[in-house]
Amino acid sequence: MFAFYLTREDLVHLNFRQRARDAVDRASAELNSNSPERLKYAALELRMAMECLTYERASSYASELPPTEYETWQPRKLMQLLLEIDPRADRDSSVAFGLEDEPGKEATTMTFLGKEKVLNLATIKRHYDALGSYLHTPTLKQLKNGAAIDHEKFRARCNVICKEVEATLETHIWNINFGNFSEMPCVRCGHTVRKRINGPNEIARCFECNATYEINEVTAGQLSWRIIQKIVPCQATSCGKDMIFDDSAIEVGKTVNCPHCGTPHDIHLMICLSDVSTLKDE
Ligand SMILES: [Zn+2]
Ligand SMILES: [Zn+2]
Repeated sequence: MFAFYLTREDLVHLNFRQRARDAVDRASAELNSNSPERLKYAALELRMAMECLTYERASSYASELPPTEYETWQPRKLMQLLLEIDPRADRDSSVAFGLEDEPGKEATTMTFLGKEKVLNLATIKRHYDALGSYLHTPTLKQLKNGAAIDHEKFRARCNVICKEVEATLETHIWNINFGNFSEMPCVRCGHTVRKRINGPNEIARCFECNATYEINEVTAGQLSWRIIQKIVPCQATSCGKDMIFDDSAIEVGKTVNCPHCGTPHDIHLMICLSDVSTLKDE
């Protein structure tokens, strides 16, 4: 199995923040040309700026993002995924520090470091797809109905997005990402599995071999990791002993052998017919 991981160096090299800045600069130039025909090019650049800002936010979650999701390019889908990982992923936040006078109590004097503005899911939902609708020739139905593009409305939307993107780019601090994490080497393959702990019954998955784990707090500050397994009795009448499978080993279409007697078992996805004779009797 081969898994593709983004490294910190890759992410620095990709520099999404600068790409977003360049895109919004080009969008502004198109808007300033005051040509209605240039609005679609501004829209295209603004969509790219929104994509870059979302990819940049995703980069701070690179170690938690399943490598299969690296190909997700739609900002809405990507941000929704980040919110599943961390419910605070799209919130604005600020950073301040101070020396506690009493351990465990907030310091009376705090030094403010800065504030971050994130391009949030609501903004992406409101504008990203709406901009896309201007990037196509009107449909036959729209042309027949004589629906023309409202250039004033289109320009107004572009201006609003420009301001949103610029405000996001203006902050001196970005990618604030705090969390409680737990990690351990996968018992199946040794790859480090890392999980952000947002609450009880967290499910972690090894991105290398797909083993899944349930994480729970046993005592204050102490977490237990339990690999998720299924126990299935061997179907050979002469055996009947329990077969234990990791959750990730159960794949439809696969054949597994009983570890006790060697009898092969096929894994099927089944929908069984209800007992027809019982239904008729009722
Ligand atoms: Zn593993
Ligand atoms: Zn058996």
